[in-house]
Amino acid sequence: MNKPFLSFLAVLLLPVFLFAQNTILHCGKFIDGKSNSARSGVSIVVSDNKIIEIKNGYIDGDEGDTIIDLKDQTVMPGLMDMHVHLSGELSPKSYSEKFYMNPEDYAYRSVPFARKTLLAGFTTVRDLGGVINTPLRNAINDGFVVGPRIFSAGKSLATTGGHADPTNSLNRRIEGDAGPKEGVVNSIEDAKKAVRYRYKNGADLIKITATGGVLSVAKSGQNPQFTEEEIKAIVDTGKDYGMHVAAHAHGAEGMKRAIRAGVRSIEHGTLMDDEAMELFKKHGTYYVPTILAGATVAERAKIDGYFPALVRPKAAAIGPKIQETFSRAYKAGVKIAFGTDSGVSPHGINAQEFELMVKGGMPPMEAIQSATLVAAELLGIDDELGTLEKGKTADVIAVDGDPLKDISVMQKVVFVMKDGKIYRNVPDTLKKHTTSINIP
Ligand SMILES: [Zn+2]
Repeated sequence: MNKPFLSFLAVLLLPVFLFAQNTILHCGKFIDGKSNSARSGVSIVVSDNKIIEIKNGYIDGDEGDTIIDLKDQTVMPGLMDMHVHLSGELSPKSYSEKFYMNPEDYAYRSVPFARKTLLAGFTTVRDLGGVINTPLRNAINDGFVVGPRIFSAGKSLATTGGHADPTNSLNRRIEGDAGPKEGVVNSIEDAKKAVRYRYKNGADLIKITATGGVLSVAKSGQNPQFTEEEIKAIVDTGKDYGMHVAAHAHGAEGMKRAIRAGVRSIEHGTLMDDEAMELFKKHGTYYVPTILAGATVAERAKIDGYFPALVRPKAAAIGPKIQETFSRAYKAGVKIAFGTDSGVSPHGINAQEFELMVKGGMPPMEAIQSATLVAAELLGIDDELGTLEKGKTADVIAVDGDPLKDISVMQKVVFVMKDGKIYRNVPDTLKKHTTSINIP
């Protein structure tokens, strides 16, 4: 056969090689999400969106495979944040937005928030309440928007005047009387209807505000706001639809009601006492601390005019307490899943939470596991995600440095793969690495 014909054949066959190729990650350090120590010099073989092999040493693979050089980095499972709000970001304007913003405005604004979150290494998040979190999830799944895999609570549930009553702070002429559709419940029947509305609107789970909160324009940041029977009705109805319940709680009484009623996780948990910690352990409830949110609101409370007058003292009093609560809960053996409440803090700095967790006494490896395996268990997806193992979905990230020696390097994410697709590859760009395919 003549040479031009061979070249022609090669060009024809090229797409076949391209589609058949695997991606091989050469990992300098390797944290699998469940072992208590890291390994060195490991290769991960990814085919389509799955990890098909994990091998010791740096393997070459077959012709056409793509090699990603992460020999100077630490590779680990994609991170998971169990508490974000991609609909917004706290600013002094946050309180007036609802008067002039339409859902479309929230939607476009959330696009860079989602992108920043993914590029910071968070390949999965639980969005615990917002205006556009469910359609944003769909747009990401359909490939229209770059962002993490979202588990959406839709609009969170509250009681009248409670932390997530959307009509709080409106004047009487426009406040109306929000009901289950808007996420406001005041009876067991309302509770069932509100959960079913969430299901109808495509939510994956339910979020409730079991106690008062810091940022709502209301007097108490900690009072119980649901009866135990109402929470039980929400949990039981959620079960019928495969939806778990996440409960925001600062005060101990509301927290205990929520745990006894069977919620999957408690968010913030600020004023938990010994009895509450025992209940966490007895019921296997996850604690999602959001230390970063506490630190953020405490800092912003120092700025005159940042918060409405009712909010400022709550932010100053409750915000700084979460750090210490985290330490007590960790020492007591409460199960902790990583969560930041990002949207209170700016999106994309989620990994700062790791530093606060380590400062609170948690070893770096456990902090990483809280954002990988433990979070995957909370979501019930640990058979697919949360660890780097053969057969798992390929959510893989790399940080520049060794997080077991310096946890702050969790903020230096240089490689992000979600569902087998690469979204960030800084080492590759820096080395101007090229994959050569020999065409005769
Ligand atoms: Zn929140």
